[in-house]
Amino acid sequence: KDDLVSPECIEGDGIYESGLRPRSIKEYIGQKTVKRNLSIFVDAAKKRKEALDHVLLYGPPGLGKTTLAVIIAREMGFNIKVTSGPVIERPGDLAAILTNLKDSDILFIDEIHRLPHTVEEILYPAMEDFYIDLVIGQGPSARSMKLDIPRFTLVGATTRAGLLTSPLRDRFGISFRLNYYAVDELTKIILRSATLLSIELEHAGAVEIAKRSRGTPRIANRLLKRVRDYAQVKEQGKVNEAVAADALEMLEIDSQGFDHMDRSILLSIIENYGGGPVGIDTLCATVGEERTTLEDVYEPYLIKEGYLQKTARGRIATRKAYEHFGKRTFKLEQE
Ligand code: ADP
Repeated sequence: KDDLVSPECIEGDGIYESGLRPRSIKEYIGQKTVKRNLSIFVDAAKKRKEALDHVLLYGPPGLGKTTLAVIIAREMGFNIKVTSGPVIERPGDLAAILTNLKDSDILFIDEIHRLPHTVEEILYPAMEDFYIDLVIGQGPSARSMKLDIPRFTLVGATTRAGLLTSPLRDRFGISFRLNYYAVDELTKIILRSATLLSIELEHAGAVEIAKRSRGTPRIANRLLKRVRDYAQVKEQGKVNEAVAADALEMLEIDSQGFDHMDRSILLSIIENYGGGPVGIDTLCATVGEERTTLEDVYEPYLIKEGYLQKTARGRIATRKAYEHFGKRTFKLEQE
């Protein structure tokens, strides 16, 4: 059940299989600034009949980075090849991908911050001057060979721009940060998905789901599908506000869309550390989650929504967090 509100990709969210993925900038909801700038860059590149500059997309999982990469390819009218950082283990793997590209192809590398260093170095000349250095043979007879590759566009995705080494980051001409979606934008996404999935969904039902989707389209679509299941079994398939609320209640998704980990982060700060500040490593150990996941997936949303504060001395649970859990503190009672 916890997986429901986890923004990480789970089975069924595959790149093309989810028929819910918008296919053009027009269909892509929200992220206004990104869309405006992207349209301009795409139009300009098309007019010059050139490949688009390399694009870096960053932001928490599930906000539409892969979708945007596919849209960029479609808008440019070129093919896209999709891979990810952890999959490319050796320089040779990347060399094979690069040499097989066609002129103006888009190469999408998800989780680009997880490329091994030796692989990343192949990318530098490839991105800048469109050649790679291949080492042929081994030992004393090894020699290096320069190989030209097509003028491709690299679209890299990562959760935080700060995770990239600066030589890599500097080689992207265009960089976009994706933000959490507002409830009205998520509502639109949910209504659009409902139409595509032929779900009878009232506007108020969509809002109810949107409010609990952690600002994340991937979660919104996933919750919609679970609500549909509930409605099919209990309510002849129709989803209004009450049905949505009941279904989400049953799935143990609270009014803020918090999952087990969100709750455990906030509650452990409140219950074990008197509200904080508590150091990030201590917190990770307490809740049993990796630091990167905590920092990239959970914290940004909790901070944005005002439940968590980051200070030089550690993380603090805010008054809003206390209120959410119906907790009182010495500090708050004094006020
Ligand atoms: P990321 O690559 O950032 O993890 P994805 O691009 O895979 O996220 O998006 C997750 C899902 O959310 C997609 O399958 C898509 O259906 C939906 N989605 C993402 N962004 C939007 C958007 N702006 N408008 C409509 N649907 C979206």
